[in-house]
Amino acid sequence: MKDSARAVVIGGGVVGTSVLYHLAKIGWRDVLLIEKSELTSGSTWHAAGGMHTFNGEANISRLQKYTIDLYREIERLSGQSCGLHPNGGLMLAANQGELDSLRLICSRARYLGMQTEMISLEQALDYNPLIDPQHFIGALWRADGGHCDPSGTTNAYAKAARQLGASVERFTRVQSLSSRRDGTWDVVTDKGTVHAGHVVNCAGLWAREVGHMAGIELPVLAMEHHYLITEDLPELEGRSREIVNTTDYAGEIYVRQERAGALIGTYEPHGIVWSPVKTPDDFSMQLLPEDFERLAPYFEVGFKHFPALGRVGIRKAVNGPFTFAPDGNPLVGPVRGLPNYWVACAVMAGFSQGGGIGLVLSRWMAENDPGQDIISMDVARFGAFATPKYTSIKVPENYSRRFRLAYPNEELPAARPVRRSPIYDRLKAAGACMGANYGLENALWFAPAGVEPVETPTYRRSEAFPVVRAECQAVRTAVGLYETTNYGKYEVAGRGARAWLDRVFASRIPRPGRLALAPMLNAAARIVGDLTIACLADDRFVIFGSGFAEEFHLRWFSQTDPPPDVFVRSLASTLNGVSIAGPRSRELVQRLTRIDLSAGAFRLFQVRETAVGFAPSILSRAGFTGELGYEIWTTPDYFATLYDDCLDAGGDLGLRLFGGRALSSLRLEKGYGSFQKDFRPDYTAAETGLERFVDFNKGEFTGRAAALAERAAGPKRRFVVMEVEALDAEVIGYESILKDGAAVGYVTSGAFGHWVGKSLAGGYVPAALAHEGARLEIDILGEMRSATVRLEPLYDPQGQKLRS
Ligand SMILES: Cc1cc2nc3c(=O)[nH]c(=O)nc-3n(C[C@H](O)[C@H](O)[C@H](O)COP(=O)(O)OP(=O)(O)OC[C@H]3O[C@@H](n4cnc5c(N)ncnc54)[C@H](O)[C@@H]3O)c2cc1C
Repeated sequence: MKDSARAVVIGGGVVGTSVLYHLAKIGWRDVLLIEKSELTSGSTWHAAGGMHTFNGEANISRLQKYTIDLYREIERLSGQSCGLHPNGGLMLAANQGELDSLRLICSRARYLGMQTEMISLEQALDYNPLIDPQHFIGALWRADGGHCDPSGTTNAYAKAARQLGASVERFTRVQSLSSRRDGTWDVVTDKGTVHAGHVVNCAGLWAREVGHMAGIELPVLAMEHHYLITEDLPELEGRSREIVNTTDYAGEIYVRQERAGALIGTYEPHGIVWSPVKTPDDFSMQLLPEDFERLAPYFEVGFKHFPALGRVGIRKAVNGPFTFAPDGNPLVGPVRGLPNYWVACAVMAGFSQGGGIGLVLSRWMAENDPGQDIISMDVARFGAFATPKYTSIKVPENYSRRFRLAYPNEELPAARPVRRSPIYDRLKAAGACMGANYGLENALWFAPAGVEPVETPTYRRSEAFPVVRAECQAVRTAVGLYETTNYGKYEVAGRGARAWLDRVFASRIPRPGRLALAPMLNAAARIVGDLTIACLADDRFVIFGSGFAEEFHLRWFSQTDPPPDVFVRSLASTLNGVSIAGPRSRELVQRLTRIDLSAGAFRLFQVRETAVGFAPSILSRAGFTGELGYEIWTTPDYFATLYDDCLDAGGDLGLRLFGGRALSSLRLEKGYGSFQKDFRPDYTAAETGLERFVDFNKGEFTGRAAALAERAAGPKRRFVVMEVEALDAEVIGYESILKDGAAVGYVTSGAFGHWVGKSLAGGYVPAALAHEGARLEIDILGEMRSATVRLEPLYDPQGQKLRS
């Protein structure tokens, strides 16, 4: 075995071999994969090999398409067959919600360039005659997908990687890892030590244990999973083509052809966690005992929906474990605080996702950038809140919902509440319908007396619609209070703070007493953060951003190597806040503070440390609603008192609590984009419009050269807000935007603008179409709705309210 390598990949399943192949392909030839047993011997060898392009996140869908298309390439390079059956996919809907969901998938697929269409049940029967159509009301067909041979595919990756110069060491166990001062690693195995520039944890069922070797607790857990293979089916005799891989959402069943019979699998509601504490070292090429008694009721649904399967015997049953993260998407990327330690694990759909994961990870390692937004599979989307207890509850929830379609207004109940602000109980008592963001409970809307704070999951307008309208109206006409504790918050302090911020952020860094809107770019001038910097003193700053991105931003900050005289820390659990917004907000806040808040004395984007009521606070004039507004931040011990003071002070001013739903409506009326939805590492400063906050005159900062080049050439597409002639459903995200029938862009967020009385969509369109009044169409749940570009904010275009 080699004693050094540029990178060591731990684990020879479908994910590790793909990472190895992609590293070799990008030019890292000196790479070594270490596998403790035979390749595939973890969860890979017994997989059903199904592959498809379906994912709620467009970028992951794209990577799944890449994975499926890649198989021909690795077959060619390696000479090893992947055993491809590219017979496409069918998805069946049994109720209106599922049908809406399939229509949304179709709308998204158009811009992604995937061949997908809604078909009749008669057509569905042609693709799969085993279906009993009486249980369904609609179907979607997609060209991409099918199934492959797990072992053939894994070996094709490994052989193709070897062709490019990579090495594979089988029957070699990694026993421990130790990092050197220079950030390289000693990989200690039972056959000697390898000195590695980088280490990649692709240990699948053992990812948790290989995480422990580096001192981290990854949120990953294995579940048992069953499928059955039937005896030959007479119904399939004489057919010239295989049946299309079929997903039955209502039955939580998948079915595909396996030789002359069928393979049927289920994601049952009460799944069993496998090896909750430690994965056995000696588990290799093994299956688990079958548990038909437990699973019989679920397979019976399958036999009802696909009756022919119940008429033949079962040839083989498989029960095997495989791993999940709490939300079912993979964990990929570098880990904060562990230079050159990478993960690619918790991959529950290795045959759909393995190739794409290898692609982005290899770019990330070789080029310091995954090349696109992948935040929904970035390991940094989980922070400290994802403890083993959280994972042990969320993973089974996710498993049980694997085949339930996720509604856009749905909040999942398991492991709730985890993080609560000091006013959680007060907000609940005030009727809050809560959501969870990064483990933290936050109010979505407030049910008035007599209304239950629960919402029916739907793709269309829910019972919350009129309530959110009333909240928006209160903000626009009087005053509203929104809890901002769920924002990301960081303190940057020290003598070198300003110089460091100047390098890391593209914006001007504010003077003491001021705020600045601060885009943060990567080297390619794409948006990695859309934050606000508050300067409290020349050497002390507080930064606010998206709460979801806390770990992502902390990792980004740490990768910029803050000098020893700069201290960066999260304030997530040490600062709570409220936004007071609306024309009467000044009156309210003035009652609680001695500083003069009159328009000339405390202007937009000013910030002061001052007492607000009883609470020592950071008070700024800012907000996300487009109204005159203030943000007040204090520590958890004062926060409930601050909240009570605000309610007392606002009682006679028409103060109303508002939640995240109203905020989405208010911000889109102003044309404000939101990080992670509208602004992501997919889009550049110029495309998002955030370029107006970039200070090109201040000297060097990350992304400057690329941003300048783009400014000279002009962006190819732009973020715009559109008025949509919607009926009873707003856009959700990733729907295709069409011009003359051709998909030209896609939606990034949407809401009903309750004040302007219009359905609104934010999205990206080609620069040539980003002009006032441009007429477009958006496919909303299967219906073409006309959309008109509005370049000026629909509400208060001159910003007079904001500055009043
Ligand atoms: C019954 C069943 C059906 C499935 N069906 C499908 C399907 O239809 N489609 C699909 O896409 N996915 C399916 N899956 C999921 C699929 O199997 C996984 O997504 C995939 O196998 C994950 O691959 P991996 O490389 O991440 O992990 P693994 O296959 O577990 O590979 C990890 C490897 O790391 C090695 N390793 C661990 N620790 C060490 C160490 N210390 N030193 C050296 N080597 C080490 C292990 O030996 C192992 O080979 C199914 C899974 C099951 C159980």
